[in-house]
Formats: sequence, C-alpha cells, structure tokens
Amino acid sequence: MLTGRKTLTRYTIEQEHRHEDSSGDFSGLLNAIATAVKVIANQVNKGALVGALGSADVENVQGEVQKRLDVISNDVLVAETEWGGHLAAMASEEMTEFRPIPEQYRRGKYLLVFDPLDGSSNIDVNISVGTIFSVLRSPSPGAEATVADFLQPGVEQVCAGFALYGPATMLVLTTGDGVDGFTLDRDIGAFVLTHPQLRIPETTGEFAINASNERFWEPPVKRYVAECLAGRTGPRGRDFNMRWVASLVAEAYRILTRGGVFLYPADTKDASRPGRLRLLYECNPIAFVIEQAGGRASTGRGRVLDLPPTALHQRAPLIFGSRAEVERIEGYHDRPSESPDPDFSLFNTRSLFRT
Ligand code: MN
Ligand code: MN
Repeated sequence: MLTGRKTLTRYTIEQEHRHEDSSGDFSGLLNAIATAVKVIANQVNKGALVGALGSADVENVQGEVQKRLDVISNDVLVAETEWGGHLAAMASEEMTEFRPIPEQYRRGKYLLVFDPLDGSSNIDVNISVGTIFSVLRSPSPGAEATVADFLQPGVEQVCAGFALYGPATMLVLTTGDGVDGFTLDRDIGAFVLTHPQLRIPETTGEFAINASNERFWEPPVKRYVAECLAGRTGPRGRDFNMRWVASLVAEAYRILTRGGVFLYPADTKDASRPGRLRLLYECNPIAFVIEQAGGRASTGRGRVLDLPPTALHQRAPLIFGSRAEVERIEGYHDRPSESPDPDFSLFNTRSLFRT
C-alpha cells in the first residue's frame, strides 16, 4: 500500500488544522518526541552491538541503579526536545530536579514530563521496554519555571502517550480525543497510523499483578485476586488468566488491545511509599490513555487523574484496565468489611500457589 497511509507527521498537522488558533507548536513538539523515540528504538534494537546494555553504575533519585539505556534515553529525549521552542521546562524520572530550557533556546508554553525508559529491568533480558510521556501547559509561560508548575493533576494533561519497543516499535498517544496507535516503519523512518481509536474491551478474563507482594496486599486486593484465582467455581463464575511482564508499557498495550486489568496497588511493604509507580511520569500518562480508550484508572480509592501531586517524584497506587473490573476493585475498597460469598474463605491461608 503506497498511498493512503497516514504518517504521524500528517496526523499531527491535520489535528492542528482542526483548531484555528493553533500555532504549530504542538505538532512540532510531538514530532520532536517521535524523533527521540526513533533514536531510542534504534539503541534498544541494536542492544549489545552498540554497548547499550548493562548498568551505568549510578543511582538515580529513586534509589534505583540506572541502566546505560536509562541514561542514553534520557539524554536523547532532552536533546531532541529542548531546542524546538515548544517547552518551558521538562522533568524526568531519571533527573533529580526539573530541567529548565537552556538560555540559548526559545522558551515555549508546554511542560514535558517523561519516563525515558520504562521497564528498564527488562533490558538485559531482551523483553519489551518503552518510553512514557506527558505534556502539560505551563501555568506561567514565558516566566522562569518552578517545581510547582509541574504539580498539576492528570486531568490537566494536553497529551500523553508511550512508545513500546517490542517486536514492533509502536507509539500510542492521546490528545483527549481517543487513543491512536502508530507502528514504526523502519524502511521509511516514519510512524504510520495502524491502530486508530483503540478501545479497551469492557470485560476481561485477564489480570496482572506482581504476586510476590501478596503478603503485603490490603484486603480488597487480596479479595479481588483470590476471587479471580477461584475461577469457574468461585464467586466470579469464570476462569481468569494471569500475566506479569514487569513493564508498565507492555501491560498497558496488552490491555489496550485485548482488555484486562493491571494492579500495582497500595500495600504495606514500605509505609513511606503509598505505591510503586511514579504519579507524574507513569500513572498520569497511562491513566489518560486508558480513560481515553474507554477504560478506567484508579488508585483503588479514586480516579488517578484527580490526584493532586505534591512532589515531582511522588509515587501512587495504580490500578487500570477494563472499566468493569476496575470499578469492582474500587467497590471492594469502598466496602472493606463486606463479607464475601460465605462458601468462599478469603483471608485465611488461601494464597496464590496454595489453596
Ligand atoms: Mn518506569
Ligand atoms: Mn524508567
């Protein structure tokens, strides 16, 4: 098919033409992000051939040892987006402080927030990783950026999305008008719209959770998982499958294409951490995409996108996917004392691998 394919460039310009007062800033920014993603995809793809694997032997602000590709990906995103005049500042999971746009470049009206390489523990074992990004409006365009500028609830995002470096490299994004998926055509070096208007199936038979944390889960999560595991003869009356890729972008894309639910819930493992995933770089952009695809994203106790951030590197619980399942889990949080099916012993010795 030589004609009729829509590239990301055409897509963003067409989107912009629908808004009369638009300046071209936004399509410029999205195309800069896409360029960064292509450069990162190339590094991920070449792996050990270009010395991109392994540890960088540095700890980031999260207390995690950075991988070489974490550092490369962060540098690429900064370099590809800071010069274009679209941004006032940017913040990254891999940078302790936010980064203002250097003086030699024009300062723009957007803030870019990103997780340059999501799932980087998967890198050395050649499992899918990705890049997550979120675009906010600067509350004070033209002025010196401050940390407070970034602390906007997820509902304020103007665009969010992620790249998935899997068997194919994909870019999935929303500007608040549904979710569109693009596949990288390496022969022409462009993202091509292949998955317009992704919709998450309403119901599901699949859940994803890190079961090694089971002993730290709160009762509503224990109940939900136990009911799934009980299968056809349990209270749900159907069998479920479990998946865990340990790569948020891969889990999100699977759920976008065939439904399911993902849980990284609040737990009792570390009282200082209300959840595992980062609100600004991970939870908010994924939540925006998921909602725009007809799903739901929750902390278990409320909508992720309504959560007011208090710090750049804040963590939050994240439960997302098919709407009915997420609402069910929220219901279990609302009514923790509600007794489950009397024939179904829940909080005794039942566990994932021993019943
Ligand atoms: Mn991540
Ligand atoms: Mn990361």
